[in-house]
Amino acid sequence: MAALVTGGSRGIGLAIAREFQAAGEPVAVTHRGRAPEGFLGVACDVTDSGQVDAAFDEAETELGPITTVVANAGITDDQLLLRMDEARFSRVVDTNLTGAYRVAKRGARSMLRQRRGRLIFVSSVVAHRGEAGQANYAASKAGLLGMARSLARELGSRGITVNVVAPGLISTDMTEGLSEARRQQILDGTPLGRCGEPAEVASAVRWLASDQAGYITGALIPVDGGAGMGH
Ligand code: NDP
Repeated sequence: MAALVTGGSRGIGLAIAREFQAAGEPVAVTHRGRAPEGFLGVACDVTDSGQVDAAFDEAETELGPITTVVANAGITDDQLLLRMDEARFSRVVDTNLTGAYRVAKRGARSMLRQRRGRLIFVSSVVAHRGEAGQANYAASKAGLLGMARSLARELGSRGITVNVVAPGLISTDMTEGLSEARRQQILDGTPLGRCGEPAEVASAVRWLASDQAGYITGALIPVDGGAGMGH
């Protein structure tokens, strides 16, 4: 039994992979360039279902059946609505939401055979709070919750749980470019008053993947310093 983390080349995905590795669990990470040192890397762009299938095939040849899948790969491409052309909207949804669908679909095949599994989607606090300039991103991240809950109902009888983790502001490349003013504004709305670390998201994911979380499905776990107040 092994895990696969999409977007494991850096940031939150890499922290999640480290968490599995530290627990002694075989893990593969997807990447679009170079695999992070010390990990089994499989090339994969989640916007291409052929690449997703090939990545799972390669990981399973090396590690055996993948029964934990973390759909973490994601992008932002912010713009206000009237300036957001359809390509920009679709690209974000295709990566963040349809990409997770592709990964879940291939992952579920192995899980159904094994009659056990853990599907975990990395959403965002923005899914339920919304954010000016992020209609594409928020829509994609909110979509993950509806998809997860539908799959939780569909797959529960086969011993497969499906859950969502919703991080708040986490220090990674994705948030590095935020202006100081914007960062402060977000922190002002965050009771814990600081950025989260990738490892803090990773430990929640790891727990959802563990046997201890065996009776939890269709849940959303916020890891956001209180920014979303539990929603
Ligand atoms: P990073 O920008 O640091 O990393 C993004 C990862 O996704 C990279 O590994 C990147 O691969 C991968 N990726 C992007 N597009 C694709 C694609 N088409 N196919 C395959 N892989 C892809 O971001 P974070 O680590 O911060 O974000 C990880 C997840 O957490 C994302 O889903 C993000 O939306 C979510 N999140 C992040 C928050 C934050 O504050 N940082 C807050 C809430 C949610 P590559 O290296 O090849 O580009």
